[in-house]
Amino acid sequence: MATNATVRGRFAPSPSGRMHLGNLFAALLAWLDVRHLGGELLLRMEDLDPDRCRPEYLSQLADDLIWLGLDWDLGWRPGETAYCQSCRTPFYQAAFKTLASRGLVYPCYCSRKERLAASAPHAADGARIYSGRCRRLSAQEKTALQESGRSPAWRVQVPGEIISFVDEVFGPQQERLDRDCGDFILRRSDGIYAYQLAVAEDDGRMGVTRVVRGWDLLSSTPRQIWLLEQLGYSVPTYCHVPLLKSPAGRRLSKRDRDLDMGYLRAHTTPEKLVGLLAYLAGLIPRPTALRPSDLVPEFSWSKVGQADRIVDDGIWEAL
Ligand code: GLU
Ligand code: ZN
Repeated sequence: MATNATVRGRFAPSPSGRMHLGNLFAALLAWLDVRHLGGELLLRMEDLDPDRCRPEYLSQLADDLIWLGLDWDLGWRPGETAYCQSCRTPFYQAAFKTLASRGLVYPCYCSRKERLAASAPHAADGARIYSGRCRRLSAQEKTALQESGRSPAWRVQVPGEIISFVDEVFGPQQERLDRDCGDFILRRSDGIYAYQLAVAEDDGRMGVTRVVRGWDLLSSTPRQIWLLEQLGYSVPTYCHVPLLKSPAGRRLSKRDRDLDMGYLRAHTTPEKLVGLLAYLAGLIPRPTALRPSDLVPEFSWSKVGQADRIVDDGIWEAL
């Protein structure tokens, strides 16, 4: 198939365990979005958190995608570290410096307890909005904290700017950064760059034009758009997808062992699994064994819709 060089999507999983049905659902949709548009897909490993990510998960994750029939044009390969966030620290450092050189970055010495006390609990997703407490410290207070030996996290000061975008699935969105989000962390106190900075820098530098991911990240998008703009990158189109949930309404997670790739690979075929995912996505009327490429011609976001999907025991009949 000829590729449309102006379209570049990405799948950016965190290799913190075996993928489960929910990750596969997002991966298939990211793959279909880009294949339908004739673009390229890249695979980026978001392994920033050394406590959660293990090297052996990376190759297993790639192997699981290939087993399912999902391919990618650039990105992670065995022995290739350019697309692993853990190896991209110099880029995050440079982005951090750019923001710092504009006077937008400041140290935050708040402990978890102080952070909670200094924040309001009314962000749209229930997250707390940091009050900017450490931005207003007196020179004396600052010196005392610096001398205390406590290592700070680093926050970026956001303006009272409204960020608007049109999500391909969830429609028009907007957020006023200072009121709805607040100053957010760019680098944790342990020195690790935060997800928001890493993703914005990577999506920008890697020339990503399509971001497909679960809607739990919808509320992170204005922060990422603002960072992309600050860093001089183009802003991609966002497509946030429904989440898969258990009948109790809990999001499927890596704790749901029975739905992870280890179990699924032992109990079904890639074609049946793709058929189930396509059915859950609203792309076919009933689960039917097929290959991802069979879904490309008819793919449309309007079929997917916004509603989360409940995955109950009935799905085993499809496998
Ligand atoms: N690495 C994130 C996750 O696995 C996704 C990040 C993104 O797509 O922006 O949940
Ligand atoms: Zn603080």
